[in-house]
Amino acid sequence: MTTRASRKQEFVLPLGNDEIRIIVSAQRRKSMRLALTKEGDVDLRIPLGCSKQEVLTFVRKHEDWLLRQRHEFHQHNRQQQSGVYVRGRELPWEISALDEFLVTDHAVWVPADWSQAERESALDQWLRAEAKTEYRLMIERWWPAFADFAEQRPTLRVKKMRSRWGSLSQKGYINLNLALMQMPEALMELVVVHELCHLKHFDHGPGFKRLMTACLPDWRQRENELKAFSRLIRY
Ligand SMILES: [Zn+2]
Repeated sequence: MTTRASRKQEFVLPLGNDEIRIIVSAQRRKSMRLALTKEGDVDLRIPLGCSKQEVLTFVRKHEDWLLRQRHEFHQHNRQQQSGVYVRGRELPWEISALDEFLVTDHAVWVPADWSQAERESALDQWLRAEAKTEYRLMIERWWPAFADFAEQRPTLRVKKMRSRWGSLSQKGYINLNLALMQMPEALMELVVVHELCHLKHFDHGPGFKRLMTACLPDWRQRENELKAFSRLIRY
């Protein structure tokens, strides 16, 4: 059994645009050792009898490493804290006192012990279920305007897509991006109407544009909003 002599000291050091708290423990050891704690502070172990000047020199020598670590720490933190978009509203993650997953108008509630991956996967499942209902209702609402152009209403498929918001297949499917659930309803509607217009016009020519204008007079403005919004969300 060994006992370890240990003394702790703290000081704050300016580093780049950042300030970093350094917790120094003097121990019976031969060399200095630097690590970042979970809280983003620096844990520095030094041999007994080291001067403050030696400590500062050592820290300065490892400034680049520290800056990198801090940058990663901040990024990770931002990911943990920043909210998610649901129907065009940014909702924060909140810890549920009831220990359950729940989406309200004001927050996405999650059990305290869930990892970020667990949160995202539960939200994904929830969004998918909502999307199936909401996209279907939106298609049903617009169907009377398009019923003459097709024998049958296309079948909805909700997909995760990187490059498209929606598409209409010749085989009778309307594919809609899951990410539209993160957007305001007016933008989801824009994509649904756009795809339904392809039942009559396969290209984006003048006929297509006239039909779009007849359905949604402000469709061009909505397209600009869609572009702007797509930069806010992750998909
Ligand atoms: Zn198109």
